[in-house]
Amino acid sequence: MIINICFHGIGRPARELEPDEDGYWIEPGLFEEVLDRFGDRPEVRFSFDDGNLSDLDHGLAGLLRRGLTATFFPVAGRLDGPGSLGPDDLRVIGRAGMAIGSHGLDHRPWRSLDDQELDRELITARNRLAEVVGRPITQAALPLGRYDRKVLGRLRSLGYRRVFSSDRAPAEKGAWLQPRYSVRDTDTISGLERELFGPRSLKQRARYRAVALYKSQRPGIAVRT
Ligand SMILES: [Zn+2]
Repeated sequence: MIINICFHGIGRPARELEPDEDGYWIEPGLFEEVLDRFGDRPEVRFSFDDGNLSDLDHGLAGLLRRGLTATFFPVAGRLDGPGSLGPDDLRVIGRAGMAIGSHGLDHRPWRSLDDQELDRELITARNRLAEVVGRPITQAALPLGRYDRKVLGRLRSLGYRRVFSSDRAPAEKGAWLQPRYSVRDTDTISGLERELFGPRSLKQRARYRAVALYKSQRPGIAVRT
């Protein structure tokens, strides 16, 4: 099994936050603790969503100090926006040995979009990021963790090789859809240790399978035509 741990913002944001986003901004101390405590476990993978400037100041710096790697999922439409990574920052992260995936163009939940809007999120964003980092983008992280049959079907048909949700469960090695645990400002290191690495009951395991099955099979939300 793989344990995917996801960060969003670290320290103080330098842009206006979206509703309910502040709970995903954590103190630098908790971030460092997570790397120290879990970074050397072979089943752990780290990722960073949203392309905040703290990916560079705290994220990359903390990883490099410990010889760790991660995948970064910036929002393509925010590159160079206030508080966000610019193209040069992203190239620095890529050259430091980190993987880069796409978190879409405008940070909108992909479930609610019509075909044209969805293609902008999945194709235009991917192309823009690939152009910046000079390599193909083959992974995506679902904005706000939301997905359904239509979204996953489109990601598959566009050749994305791995897609990350936020369903708080261990991931199967090699699975195309990988759940992650997002670290929140209310988390503690001991609470995370219990939740991520403690024994999981049969009921908990069954629950993730049921949730993922339901979400991946549900039809897309009807949108205007
Ligand atoms: Zn996000």
